[in-house]
Amino acid sequence: MAEPKIRLHVDQPLAPGQAVALTEGQANYLFAVMRLPAGAELRLFNGRDGEWRAEVVEATKRRGVLVCRALMAPQVAPPDLWLVFAPVKKERTHFIVEKAVELGVSRLLPVATRFTTAERLRTDKARAHAIEAAEQCGATHVPEVAEVQPLERLLAGWPDGRRLFWADESLAGQGGWEGATPGPAAVLIGPEGGFSDDEKARLRGLSFVTPVSLGPRILRAETAAVAALVLWQVRFGDWR
Ligand code: SAM
Repeated sequence: MAEPKIRLHVDQPLAPGQAVALTEGQANYLFAVMRLPAGAELRLFNGRDGEWRAEVVEATKRRGVLVCRALMAPQVAPPDLWLVFAPVKKERTHFIVEKAVELGVSRLLPVATRFTTAERLRTDKARAHAIEAAEQCGATHVPEVAEVQPLERLLAGWPDGRRLFWADESLAGQGGWEGATPGPAAVLIGPEGGFSDDEKARLRGLSFVTPVSLGPRILRAETAAVAALVLWQVRFGDWR
């Protein structure tokens, strides 16, 4: 049997024979845009129960019901890697969220720093982008997107046992990562204006922070996020 191509994220639990009622938006997408007929199959995931082959049993433009037929892939957690980043312009933040999901992170934590210029982050939109990216890249996990919080508050409550790899632009061209060790981790990327002197001093004084370089050139924030995640994944993640 050919593998169904369409992959859809739903909120409901998934299990053998489980019926899944679609939202109006999902029904419109599947039946009006993709023109799936009753009896067609697609892949479903919800971020908790793996990926399921499901059959369309009721299809109208506004309503639809699917039934789970078989488990196609088990639930797989990404590596225990968080991305901590200062939101930038809307499209570039969208890029950061999308690439972080594709590259494999377990949480996205936007932070407000001294030079963060983005007015605000629409967390609902960022969460929708994370779901779209997971649908597209085949991930069964959808990383949580937290509300924006001040960098200082995040640092003050930092969990024991998690290393924070701080992409420090002042180390550009000076190597880095030599002392890095595996284990629960996070990568910190600053805004277009970089970190303030106060923030740099604070980060340097924290025992759980390891400053790292991302090569000899100063990267845009979104490029830096991709580069840092790749560097960590290659060393410690599920790419090895
Ligand atoms: N305005 C800053 C400057 O000229 O120094 C550059 C900020 S950069 C556009 C945005 C963020 O990307 C930085 O805060 C840092 O976290 C990261 N970054 C960019 N290039 C880097 C590099 N070569 N090494 C380490 N971090 C880098």
